[in-house]
Amino acid sequence: MDVLNYIFNEYNPNFNNQIPEIFRSVAAKPQIRFCLAKKDPLGLATNGILRVKTMVEDIGCRTMGNQKMIMAANLGGSQIWDPKRYLNVFIGARENCPRAEAIFPWNASLSTDGIIIDPRLVGVRLSSHPFHLGYTLVHELGHYFGLLHLSVNSQPDDCSQDDGIADTPPQSKNYFGCPIHPSISCGQPSMFMNFMSLVQDDCMHLFTVDQVQKMNENIVLYRSELGECLPVLADSAKWVVSYSGNHFGQWIVGTTDESPWSAEVCLIDIEGKIRICNQYNQATRTAFPKKPLQLSPGIYFIQFKSDMKHQTYKIVYY
Ligand SMILES: [Zn+2]
Repeated sequence: MDVLNYIFNEYNPNFNNQIPEIFRSVAAKPQIRFCLAKKDPLGLATNGILRVKTMVEDIGCRTMGNQKMIMAANLGGSQIWDPKRYLNVFIGARENCPRAEAIFPWNASLSTDGIIIDPRLVGVRLSSHPFHLGYTLVHELGHYFGLLHLSVNSQPDDCSQDDGIADTPPQSKNYFGCPIHPSISCGQPSMFMNFMSLVQDDCMHLFTVDQVQKMNENIVLYRSELGECLPVLADSAKWVVSYSGNHFGQWIVGTTDESPWSAEVCLIDIEGKIRICNQYNQATRTAFPKKPLQLSPGIYFIQFKSDMKHQTYKIVYY
């Protein structure tokens, strides 16, 4: 989640000098935010992660008819959650097929949708070098939102077909490994460092303005019912802590801009022991902990944790 939210929301490709200057001007931030589901399809509380044991070998590669087995409980998988409302990411063995795949929005059905990825390619994992930065899922999300590879041609010198994106140059072939700029295809330097390229993780650096626009168009067209993440905190805002006038062992928490926020707030003592955690949804100014706590004088920490931001306050209690 950290990798996805960083790349889609925080990372600024305009300042990345590993992107050749001719491409830096068309680099863009998708600004699509991801969070783990907080309610399952029945409306029950969940952490958004299911762990299911299977007896089916190499389940991430297997299909029965059109059905991906990993997405169906009766085929040894984990039953897909309503793909209109949830982005389903299935993490399972993919030994005898490409390490990851996504369902294009126009091919999705109620029983087959989302992404399947081998566990070795999830998140930052140095032992999976050169696919060690978690960008495989970034790439698959591009497909999930309807982006194609930069080259869609099957012949190495065919420039007749295009990825349908105006600001990516035509390419007759896909690149692998980590090429050196300029690498020429169809008479132009190729944008091999695009996230929709097939290069290794530390060589992928950008989505373009038109790719971002295409993703947004496809969200409106095909994926408009996807759940939204709860608001966290505006980029510029910070959580603030003040003393409650009424109770000892309780503080007032809020934000510098008074905006609603959702987070887990924990009180941690000087030894690092968590004394209490409370969940807040859409809160503004509110008491923490929800019930005053008996505390001995000393130094404590109040830690705010949301999908996007972590922040810690040191407080002296006397
Ligand atoms: Zn791909």
